[in-house]
Amino acid sequence: VEIVLEADGLTKYFPIRTPLSRTKKAVRAVEGVSLQLRKGSVTALVGESGSGKSTVARLLAQLYPLSSGEIRLHGQVVAVQRGLTRGRRFRAYCRRVQMIFQDPFASLNPVHSIRYHLTRALTIHGNRGDDLETSLAELLTRVHLTPAQRYLDRYPHELSGGQRQRVAIARALAASPEVLLADEPVSMLDVSIRLGVLNLLRDLKERLHLSILYITHDIASARYFADETVVMYAGQVVEGGASETVTQRPAHPYTQLLIESAPDPDRPAVDEKDGGAGEPPALIDPPSGCRFHPRCPFAMDVCRTDRPPRFELGDGHFAACWLYREEA
Ligand code: SF4
Ligand code: MG
Repeated sequence: VEIVLEADGLTKYFPIRTPLSRTKKAVRAVEGVSLQLRKGSVTALVGESGSGKSTVARLLAQLYPLSSGEIRLHGQVVAVQRGLTRGRRFRAYCRRVQMIFQDPFASLNPVHSIRYHLTRALTIHGNRGDDLETSLAELLTRVHLTPAQRYLDRYPHELSGGQRQRVAIARALAASPEVLLADEPVSMLDVSIRLGVLNLLRDLKERLHLSILYITHDIASARYFADETVVMYAGQVVEGGASETVTQRPAHPYTQLLIESAPDPDRPAVDEKDGGAGEPPALIDPPSGCRFHPRCPFAMDVCRTDRPPRFELGDGHFAACWLYREEA
């Protein structure tokens, strides 16, 4: 299937200055992350809070400059290590790659109506069409807020959380994007309405052939919703492949831990920080070798000294873990 957006070795260090230390330190938030978003396909990016998954989304949205690595859209390099380019090229990129945030309340301006938000987005992206009212109604119909007249003149606080997130999705669609970067789009919503929003995104993927990056700490939802799943730990990708394979036959010990500690879908979600043995490491001074080694029940000597490369396990499934060295 056609690759739309591709990250190649994305790396992001946030420099920090402390008054007591002269040495330059940095938070190594994202290191060497590669992934591919295919046309008409959902890719889940799964990890604990602090694993760098939101930073990956922001790098792909070109909200931060890269420390190193490359982003390609349809094979064309759109971002490399340097300052951000703003202006016309960036606006063209934003039209094609739209972001949806975790908190729809924060991303909508409370003093403006839904009509205002959507009209503005259509206008900015040159998609008002011949008849603005028709374009507005089409957008709301796409996110199943019908009849449109019932919603257009309301304000964000007059909608439920799920309706607000649907408006945020409609606003993203106003750009006619090819890619949606959805950063925990349902984690702040009531458990009972999460599935509806995920089903909507899946439906949009199919009807509009969108590529969706679905960022989540909930690997159970990745299994349900995503075609492919990529797992991050401490700023690095540790496993990836078809969602079915990664969730049914997880190869990396961290993925296995995530699945064992995943909440039962029929029970209320647990606090995401309470996900299994130990805590993810601080990324100012991450563990040597495999970053998971302090928590890994299978850690060997090599794990403490050498970073494991990706080992291919067949059918696009891979794991960055020394346990698979012989199979390479
Ligand atoms: Fe565990 Fe070693 Fe594999 Fe890391 S490389 S996950 S420490 S076995
Ligand atoms: Mg986050």
